[in-house]
Amino acid sequence: MQEYLFSGARILAPARAFDAVADLAVKDGVIVAPAELSSRAKKIDLKGKLIAPGFFDMHVHLREPGQTHKEDIASGTRAAAAGGFTGLLAMPNTDPPICSVEDFLQQQKLLAQKALIPVLQCVSLTQGREGKALNELMALRQAGVKALSDDGGTPQDEELMRRAMLAAKEAGLPIIDHCEDYSISRPGVMHEGAVSRRLGLPGQPRLAEERMVQRDIRLCRETGCRVHLQHLSSAGSVKMLRQARQEGLPISGEVMPHHLLFTDQDVEKYGVNAKMAPPLREESDRQALLEALCEGSISVLATDHAPHSQAEKALGMLKAPFGITGLEQAVALCLTLLYHSGKISLAELIKRFSCAPREILQMPQLSLEIGETAELTIIDLEQKHQLSLQNSCSKARNCPYEGMSCKGKPWAVFSQGRLLKTQELK
Ligand SMILES: [Zn+2]
Repeated sequence: MQEYLFSGARILAPARAFDAVADLAVKDGVIVAPAELSSRAKKIDLKGKLIAPGFFDMHVHLREPGQTHKEDIASGTRAAAAGGFTGLLAMPNTDPPICSVEDFLQQQKLLAQKALIPVLQCVSLTQGREGKALNELMALRQAGVKALSDDGGTPQDEELMRRAMLAAKEAGLPIIDHCEDYSISRPGVMHEGAVSRRLGLPGQPRLAEERMVQRDIRLCRETGCRVHLQHLSSAGSVKMLRQARQEGLPISGEVMPHHLLFTDQDVEKYGVNAKMAPPLREESDRQALLEALCEGSISVLATDHAPHSQAEKALGMLKAPFGITGLEQAVALCLTLLYHSGKISLAELIKRFSCAPREILQMPQLSLEIGETAELTIIDLEQKHQLSLQNSCSKARNCPYEGMSCKGKPWAVFSQGRLLKTQELK
């Protein structure tokens, strides 16, 4: 394998509170002392750039098997690397979904063949993702599964969820939950409020999410299960999560760039590319999400990268599927919105993208020390640019970020002994 000497970068590793300009040497994919490199080492000048522990997106839809017209393992992981991620958690709502030990082992083989960066495969909590009968969680754990989720939905039956949490607790696995009460959310296609009324579209009230957040907190307290709340969108959810964490419950939450950037008013501008679950809500919700992320009550930034074909999105607001892409844009958007605006420090931003997801998924932290496998996200902090979907690595184009101005962008990732430069991936 190639040897590298990365020189002149600011190295920031929150796991050991390290922040300094220093050289970083890599040999056979492992961080070594610079003196150990031979004269053949490739010298890479990273003056003005940042080296961070590899970013991990814990909410991605890769669409393979079954929906490879939207995305596949190769294109999705390439988009992730181009977006600055060295790892991701793939949701199990493929076609067919990943539900059993057998499905999981088969998917592991497919991932080993096709993925550009390491992928953790999440497995469904209930059989067939139908919310009716629990999977055998202990057997899944023994097969190497790290997380469970019926994402795209959640079991509606509280008693089933209670038993799921008891079983997950026993198996030592976190439950990652998409909080939605269908009896309230359906058939809504956007947030219920003044805008949905003006557009004459069926709305989803905040209550659809908040009822399930409330349920999950109640069951987390009852069972002691590790719970992670996906894609939070409402101020009420944020308030409950903050209180639950202050109480000391083993619960965490994530937010997506689109919920930090947009409100339901943007549905008029972006149409189907602003249709996602949960929906974009109001300015007061957006402010509450920003505040919770910056203070750490929401500890994870993730994308909910949800690719769809143009034909599917062309069905219009009522019939188009929910979801937008974001793997390639999230880091640049968050650097712009959160770091360059002074809302959050770089160390805290790195915790949201790297440290917290690893902690929830019980993966080792990356401290960028000698002897550690090099898993790096390299960022050009100051570069100004406009987002463009033209050379996107993703197969999909259902993305509202085209043309947006950003400051700071992922320059490369280092993963499995290879330097993958964003420019060369596109
Ligand atoms: Zn979801």
